[in-house]
Amino acid sequence: MISTPPVPDPQRLRALHERERRRYVDTHPRSAALAAASAPHFLWGVPLHWMRDWALPHPLFVERAQGHRVHCVDGHAYVDFCLGDTGAMFGHSPPPVAQAVAAQAARGLTAMLPGAMLAAVGEALQRVFGLPRWQVTLSASDANRFVLRWARAVTGRPKVLVFDGCYHGTVDDTLVDMAGDGRTLTRASLLGQVHDLALGTVVVPFNDAAAVDAALARGDVACVLTEPALTNCGLVPPAPGFLDAVQASCRRHGALFVLDETHTVSSGLGGYARVHGLAPDAVVVGKAVAGGVPCAVYGVTDDLARRMMAAKDAAPEGHSGIGTTLSASLLALAALQASLAHVMTADAYARMEATAAALQAALEGVVQRRGLPWSVTRLGARMELQFCPQPPNDAAAARAAMDEALERALHLFLLNRGLLVTPFHNMLLVPPMAGAGDVAAVAQALDDFLAEIAA
Ligand code: PMP
Repeated sequence: MISTPPVPDPQRLRALHERERRRYVDTHPRSAALAAASAPHFLWGVPLHWMRDWALPHPLFVERAQGHRVHCVDGHAYVDFCLGDTGAMFGHSPPPVAQAVAAQAARGLTAMLPGAMLAAVGEALQRVFGLPRWQVTLSASDANRFVLRWARAVTGRPKVLVFDGCYHGTVDDTLVDMAGDGRTLTRASLLGQVHDLALGTVVVPFNDAAAVDAALARGDVACVLTEPALTNCGLVPPAPGFLDAVQASCRRHGALFVLDETHTVSSGLGGYARVHGLAPDAVVVGKAVAGGVPCAVYGVTDDLARRMMAAKDAAPEGHSGIGTTLSASLLALAALQASLAHVMTADAYARMEATAAALQAALEGVVQRRGLPWSVTRLGARMELQFCPQPPNDAAAARAAMDEALERALHLFLLNRGLLVTPFHNMLLVPPMAGAGDVAAVAQALDDFLAEIAA
């Protein structure tokens, strides 16, 4: 296991963090006032309690977000490498999506009927992601939930397999952990959980192809659901050949191979599977797919589509447990069409890749000059600064490399210098409009931070 190097000087880190907290409070009086005004009306003063996960004394209130910048109500501008944790991966309010949304808003928001653009949306999904048949949902959580239901329906098998450290949204079956002895455990942090999730889920370590094959050989697993690289417990890239081995095990044992590309769509046009020549039975893409408008999609092969329709046709009349009323609304379809045609383009990816490669090199340079045994792992436009010398091989190694005190101080230090990074671990996402000046600003800020806390 990779061990965590010590924080250079814990005392200096604490002092820095305290000073940065005061600086934030001093420079954000309007956000503080809005936080106070919201507090009586919302739990923890926020409309989604995750908004308190930022390393901030009080929430940062947004005045507007455009391109790669967020502007707060106190008049500060931030270069955004969080991008709504991927929802705004191609920049905030991409003009083609903003225009399509405005035009559609004047012509109907939701009707539970398809809009005239539907066939064009389907053609674009096939062109970009390669799979022929699609369904549209409101969120990636929903898309994953529904794919698991379809997988069980078409295979008649009760279990799903996920990897330790996975996150696929609020999908009960996937909210599991792996015990030291390899058993599947219901995640301890879940609220209101009454079912034993181990009854329907098997969890194994990422990058352990033998464990996957052994679990699938039992014949009761409907599908493997995974991100091509784990991105939610720190970035854990797949070992060479691992995903091909999982795909082959799925074929051998009659399980479906499902890739959740919600974050790994950063890899390149069409997502990781397309870029790396994988052949999943189903793919889920959420968050950024419609330019930030609530929407996600799942695509399946022709063979799986036939099995899904047969399962539905054979079922008694009534609710399938799949779908929600606002899914595939006219608004979402209009945004999806504009996003696929004009935003999620090869040109945008080329710019993201070039700037992300430059940022990775700059951060690695800082870390090397400071003599720290840290690494920067990158998946196209997404990268992660990790406090370990090599990219971790599984979730246990990724967790061991985390240091919450260091992360939180770093995030606040960067924010006070006009740079936003994702509040969960050290993930940076590079949008197409970021450039050399932004790269230099992050590298300089990291260097200043490290200089101050050096032992
Ligand atoms: N899949 C992955 C890989 C994710 O990272 C997330 C959210 N971080 C989701 C699914 C769920 O997305 P949402 O919260 O938009 O439903």
